[in-house]
Amino acid sequence: MSLKMDGLFRTGRTLLTNLTNRVGWCQKEQRCIRFYCSLHAKRNRLSRHFQSVNLRTDVTALEEIKCKSQRLMLLAGLISPANPGCYYYMPYTLRAMEKLIKVIDKEMHAIGGQKVNMPTLNSAALWRASGRWDLIGSELLRLRDRHGQEYCLGPTHEEAITNLIASQGCLSYKQLPVLLYQVTRKFRDEPKPCFGLLRGREFYMKDLYTFDATQEAALQTYDLVCSAYCKVFRNLGLPFVKVRAAAGNIGGTLSHEFQLPAEIGEDMLLMCQGCDFSANMEMMDSKEGQCPVCQGKLMEKKGIEVGHTFLLGTKYSSVFKANVRNSQNELALAEMGCYGLGVSRILAAAIEVLSPEDAIRWPNLIAPYQICLIPPKKGSKEDKGAVLLEDLYDCIAEAVPDIQEELVLDDRTDLTIGKRLKDANKLGYPYVIICGKKILDEPPLFEIQNQSTEPQEWCDHS
Ligand SMILES: [Zn+2]
Repeated sequence: MSLKMDGLFRTGRTLLTNLTNRVGWCQKEQRCIRFYCSLHAKRNRLSRHFQSVNLRTDVTALEEIKCKSQRLMLLAGLISPANPGCYYYMPYTLRAMEKLIKVIDKEMHAIGGQKVNMPTLNSAALWRASGRWDLIGSELLRLRDRHGQEYCLGPTHEEAITNLIASQGCLSYKQLPVLLYQVTRKFRDEPKPCFGLLRGREFYMKDLYTFDATQEAALQTYDLVCSAYCKVFRNLGLPFVKVRAAAGNIGGTLSHEFQLPAEIGEDMLLMCQGCDFSANMEMMDSKEGQCPVCQGKLMEKKGIEVGHTFLLGTKYSSVFKANVRNSQNELALAEMGCYGLGVSRILAAAIEVLSPEDAIRWPNLIAPYQICLIPPKKGSKEDKGAVLLEDLYDCIAEAVPDIQEELVLDDRTDLTIGKRLKDANKLGYPYVIICGKKILDEPPLFEIQNQSTEPQEWCDHS
């Protein structure tokens, strides 16, 4: 079988030849089946999905929503509203998010990151020690347990991780740098949650904390993490800018943001047209519109903040006594960095920047499913092609096991191909294989539509 994704039509003949020896007539089912194939019992059938195409709701109200990613995600049933700023993540969204986490994990492992999981409940005592219990106002979600103890639902974990490091005794220089990260649900009591997953009160964040013995080493680690973040966004095919940023209430001496330029973005960015200087407007002293590096003209652009990095110095290690022992056996406070990626925000921001107004487009790597196969309408002239398409499904699944989990058979054969194609287009599968009129040709032809955001030939198997 050859499935080159660049052309529109591909012959089914090679496929049929390959199958000839393995296809037989099943008396019981009164149709052709493959002898050795037990896969068809496990075909991933769209009609069984807990998904909006099977749960059509009134969409007229949703069409008013101005934020594109929020509108598209609601219309496609990828998210469902719960409380202000809180959403149910439906199965397709979770699939995409789990893939996104894998993309992030890969780059974190490549620089020596190790995954941990910290409690969501953070004691007030830790936050009082750092001074942030009072510094951060009503954005911090606070609660009290039955014993009257105060806690917050962690929006970030500098206090918790530094306390953990301190409690383990001092770090040895042999271990350094230590890079610990987690991907967990975070909380922020936004005054005005809006734009779906772009600005919620509950969201997923990847937060990384690094520990070094010296300032120079910490700066090296900082650069290492920044380049890993660049790789994540490049792998996703997202147009990003890294800008200088203010450290805010996190603190530290050096800070950058990773921004996806978009009209809906809430940050104003200044980018120099003469050099590579770019900054968040909030960190510029004046709005004179001149680049501080080359005096060139600054261009304004709105952006969605999807990542933030901070070189912290000893701000937290000095509070919690997190120490390292250097190669001269001397004790020193750990030089720290902290780094965040807004996981659920990246998901929505990617849709925001890649999609046209009326259909979702994903970065290929994280599309919930890669291939949707659409068989003919029941009772149509092309109906006899259905068995060929099912065989194609099994053939792909068998030939490329990695893709087996990525196939969807849109078996709602009471609907026309056109209607199902519209749904497929809306959900943004990178590839759609249609069993249309050409299946009656000799040789029979499937139609392959490439909906992906980047031209890519990723399935070529003979
Ligand atoms: Zn400049």
